[in-house]
Amino acid sequence: MKSLKVDICIIGGGIAGLWTLNRLRQQGYQTILIENADLGGDQTCASQGIIHGGTKYALTGTVTGSAKAISEMPKRWLSCLKGDGEIDLNQVEILAPHQFLWTENDIATRLTGFFASKLMQSKMVAIKSDQQADFFHQQYRNSQFNGHVYQLNEPVINTQQLINKLFNNYKQSVIKATISDIKRTSDNDYQLYFDGDVNIQTKQLILTAGNGNQALYHKIFSDSNAKHSMQVMQQRPLQMLMLKGKNLKPIYAHRLGVSALPTITISSHKIPELDETIWYIGGELAEKFATKSQYELIIAAKEQLSKFIPWQNFENIDWSSLYVNRAEPLMDKGQRPDNQFMAVKDNIILAWPVKLALTPLLADDICNLLEQSRLIAKNKPLPIEFENFIKPGLCKMPWEKTKQWSQ
Ligand SMILES: Cc1cc2nc3c(=O)[nH]c(=O)nc-3n(C[C@H](O)[C@H](O)[C@H](O)COP(=O)(O)OP(=O)(O)OC[C@H]3O[C@@H](n4cnc5c(N)ncnc54)[C@H](O)[C@@H]3O)c2cc1C
Repeated sequence: MKSLKVDICIIGGGIAGLWTLNRLRQQGYQTILIENADLGGDQTCASQGIIHGGTKYALTGTVTGSAKAISEMPKRWLSCLKGDGEIDLNQVEILAPHQFLWTENDIATRLTGFFASKLMQSKMVAIKSDQQADFFHQQYRNSQFNGHVYQLNEPVINTQQLINKLFNNYKQSVIKATISDIKRTSDNDYQLYFDGDVNIQTKQLILTAGNGNQALYHKIFSDSNAKHSMQVMQQRPLQMLMLKGKNLKPIYAHRLGVSALPTITISSHKIPELDETIWYIGGELAEKFATKSQYELIIAAKEQLSKFIPWQNFENIDWSSLYVNRAEPLMDKGQRPDNQFMAVKDNIILAWPVKLALTPLLADDICNLLEQSRLIAKNKPLPIEFENFIKPGLCKMPWEKTKQWSQ
């Protein structure tokens, strides 16, 4: 059996793995990334692509530490999207430069403290009724709606193009393979086994496999004598709603209700060849119906949407949904983590970005850690045999995969 040696091996090609690969290769580390399915195919292409700047954290009226950490993210991403940042993303489409946030009058009263907060003032602009753009247009002004609309300076990006760009930057380092086993060697390296007659030996493993991290962790540590718990991950199930139709206008907006989480968050995607638009909807609705049937979600959504968006005509719309789990580090009492997460054990980094938007911070943490490690970045080429591995495909967007639509 042939053993190929490589300094760093990243497992999992979603946003976390691919962004980290780009940063490490830029710095000259000999690195490969192994993906066992489609790149970005689990959470990243199922995400809404919102580059959060912390507003969601502040919906309770208090600005927390995590809101401050995340508040720099839109600026950092935008400089990459312009081609001036740490990674060149200038061909990645910005679907919307900002989003809207709308709320009815009685709810707005509760949020006075939030809107007045200094941090948020710089991010949100109240929209006057004669300035309504796109979604909140003429029909909105003519309707009986009596509330507030704010513009939120957090962009929304095309996640499929993002994954494709990050892959193309360092394509030669990305392979498709299914790992059957991982063993630790006597020099504290790791040996990765696959079906076939090749294995890979690496000095540093980085686990960015999202929902797959738990199984990998178990594979690595299950026969060690360690007394630590094997449970390192929690999952948050969602049922995302999808609407498809010719008379939907592209919108990017959150509707605020009485809880800290927006009732619905809508992002949109055009299907030019069909002249149709997709509304992809998350928020509280997707959490509440995560374990219910698609039929139950659609019935509830029809009622809620016609109440929240009375000026939209929902005739001739196709409805569907996607079940997906968010993968997160295990938290006390299943709380939501606010920040990117990295844990280190025996030359293994276990990582979750927690949010797409936070990935640059996760990659900073990984790069800083490796600077202190035994690895040297010196632009060592990869063994030529890596050229023989096949490349993984690119994720499909949820509505491209969905076959079942109902009216
Ligand atoms: C519905 C939804 C909406 C979201 N919206 C937003 C948003 O608008 N903004 C935001 O900031 N965040 C959002 N998030 C969170 C964000 O999408 C995730 O935090 C982020 O995409 C996670 O990236 P990842 O690379 O860790 O995981 P993933 O994107 O899940 O990638 C993991 C990869 O690892 C691969 N893999 C798994 N097991 C193995 C294995 N054994 N070997 C090799 N490869 C393996 C998988 O095939 C996959 O390609 C959303 C999440 C969801 C689910």
